[in-house]
Amino acid sequence: MATVGNSWDLLKDFKVTTGKDEGGMGLGKKDSYETCVVAEYVWLDAFGVPRSKTKTLSKKPYDVDCLPVWNFDGSSTEQSPGENSDVYLVPRALFRDPFRGGDNVMVLAECFTWEMEPAIGNTRAACATIMESYKAHDPWFGIEQEYTLMKPTKVGEVSKEPYGFNADGSEPAPQGPYYTGAGTGVSIGREVADTHYAKCLYAGVKVAGINAEVMPGQWEYQVGPCRGLEMGDHLTMSRYIMYRVTEDLGMQVSFHPKPRTGDWNGAGCHTNFSIKSMREDGGLAVIEKVCEAFGKVAADHIKEYGEGNDLRLTGLHETCSIKEFKYGVANRGCSIRIPRETAAAKKGYMEDRRPAANCDPYLVTARMMQTTGPAVM
Ligand code: ADP
Ligand code: MN
Ligand code: MN
Ligand code: MN
Repeated sequence: MATVGNSWDLLKDFKVTTGKDEGGMGLGKKDSYETCVVAEYVWLDAFGVPRSKTKTLSKKPYDVDCLPVWNFDGSSTEQSPGENSDVYLVPRALFRDPFRGGDNVMVLAECFTWEMEPAIGNTRAACATIMESYKAHDPWFGIEQEYTLMKPTKVGEVSKEPYGFNADGSEPAPQGPYYTGAGTGVSIGREVADTHYAKCLYAGVKVAGINAEVMPGQWEYQVGPCRGLEMGDHLTMSRYIMYRVTEDLGMQVSFHPKPRTGDWNGAGCHTNFSIKSMREDGGLAVIEKVCEAFGKVAADHIKEYGEGNDLRLTGLHETCSIKEFKYGVANRGCSIRIPRETAAAKKGYMEDRRPAANCDPYLVTARMMQTTGPAVM
């Protein structure tokens, strides 16, 4: 990158036209592509990992409906059988492209089979149905995405070496100075965290803040408050941007809930949540009622809160054991924490601390709303 510069800057004086894309027919009629823009279509694969491919659009989209439905070869991503391999990409949310800049865009797309059924890996469709049926509650979510920077290993291998660990393989000094720390050998990977932050804000992803985490090379960013389905869309795009930033900086990102065993913190996705009645006077009583309801179906929630979460929810390292359910004010050893300000104001939000860093935000937010809805009838 450094030697060739951002080649997309070369296009900065092009005069694009705005409007609905006219597809291949639109491009076919043109003598030049100088009025075009480029769209990066991002979707989730069978394992909830973002993938993307790029398309030249005849016009710059002003909203998501300007973008054409596209497709990809689902047999290469385990999302369809080889003999009927096309998976449709239906545009759902539009963002600016923080890598190419200019008038170029990124689009979050949802995967459908040739029969227009949700394809493998599409959890958004069911989340949309649940959010729609409870929209009168106006649910807000804020997810604290923790992640761990890792040293790249062999191609195709999952790295087990955190970026913050010493070159000779020795473990760094115990946890303590790294959380919110500054300085060489204390704050490790700030360039990733900060670059990602700027790129998300430019793209239109609602990042509310960042902080260095407890394990060296571990960080957090918060996305939200987002409304309903928007939570999954923005978190998905934020993860995609993180993969791209770490790719540019020669690092790997791990969203595993316990990337390194031993006396090192795991990584979660604390999910902050409120409905309208929680944010209004008397909201604390609603929060307590919902916490009680969550307790009754704790195991059902855990099933949808991410893979490998048992390695993280041990009761140590600021977690509550996966086998228990507790809620309380300002207690970080609880499954659900009621923030101090919420208890004091008697209204606000609750924090479900159980979702793992690799959780599917559509599953998590849908499950939370599905338990909340009937409990507050
Ligand atoms: P913590 O103290 O747990 O580290 P953070 O500041 O990291 O908390 O994250 C808090 C999150 O809660 C932010 O993403 C914020 O957008 C979100 N949030 C704030 N108010 C609400 C609310 N009323 N409903 C849902 N989420 C909220
Ligand atoms: Mn936080
Ligand atoms: Mn955190
Ligand atoms: Mn938190």
